Amino acid sequence: MAQSAYSLSSTVKVNNGSSIPLIQLGVYMVSGQETMNHAVHTALGAGYRGIDSAEWYQNEREVGRAVRSFLSSPDNKASLRREDIEFTTKLKSNISYSATRKSIKRSIEESGLGYIDLYLLHSPYGGKSKRLECWRAVEDAIGEGEIKIGGVSNFGIKHLEELLASTPRVTPAVNQVEIHPFNTQSKLSKFCQKKGIVVQAWGPLVRGMRMEHHTISSLAKKYTCSPAQLLIRWSLQHGYVPLPKSVTPHRIIENGQVHDVEIEAFDMEKLDALDEHLVTDWDPTNTD
Ligand code: NDP
Repeated sequence: MAQSAYSLSSTVKVNNGSSIPLIQLGVYMVSGQETMNHAVHTALGAGYRGIDSAEWYQNEREVGRAVRSFLSSPDNKASLRREDIEFTTKLKSNISYSATRKSIKRSIEESGLGYIDLYLLHSPYGGKSKRLECWRAVEDAIGEGEIKIGGVSNFGIKHLEELLASTPRVTPAVNQVEIHPFNTQSKLSKFCQKKGIVVQAWGPLVRGMRMEHHTISSLAKKYTCSPAQLLIRWSLQHGYVPLPKSVTPHRIIENGQVHDVEIEAFDMEKLDALDEHLVTDWDPTNTD
């Protein structure tokens, strides 16, 4: 990919032919309407076009309100419309077909955004039959226009193989997993990429836990960027879609400005070698 391709206006094509933004704003643990408005208005104003929420985060309502208030505000200098924004949300638990259909409808209602652009099974928990049953609900919701794109999150190779072997009507477009230099998940990400499943990287900033690591700070110095920009660029150069979270305006802007940070192959390898399988939150990729 050309260097200039790594910007907030860049997109990546998914397997149903549509595209999703290459860098998106994460909103895990962002709560309160004022904080959400501030983060979302800053992000959309800076050029972000995707927001990653979840039923679990209990902030779909705040995200929806913030997007809608941005669209009708003077901050909307690019005259964006609802269809220019990618709203992602996720199913909290794989309980049943009908519970999934209900959750999808509730997420749409909560957000007030009319439909969901990208809907993910948040985790593989619940066992094989529940996963496949809930995926059928996602397929039907896509058929009814409630969802544009379906995907999964925290699925390991065996969960993906099982879903692909079930001859689904819709192949998952995305697998969203924790990925950063300290947890590279290279086997899983290679598998996804081989199958044409886009890898979304959650926790791309390692939750701020390794900003002062000597390799990170020395490479950030070398490329005259911040540690966060280095981490985001690492993600992009591996072909992932990073979802950096911030509620701090200057960081939101900084995290989207990575087009001129080009990490050389030799330094990419140095970063890859930092892998320590660091799990910052949860790792359900090996569950039954
Ligand atoms: P991140 O790796 O994105 O790190 C977020 C932390 O980094 C915050 O404390 C933030 O602080 C800080 N930060 C942001 N920008 C900078 C910067 N430029 N310099 C220094 N510090 C910075 O962690 P998340 O776990 O939030 O992951 C990102 C997103 O991925 C989530 O918000 C969510 O959307 C998704 N996710 C998905 C999961 C899943 O299971 N599918 C699980 C976890 C996350 P501050 O906000 O104060 O600026």
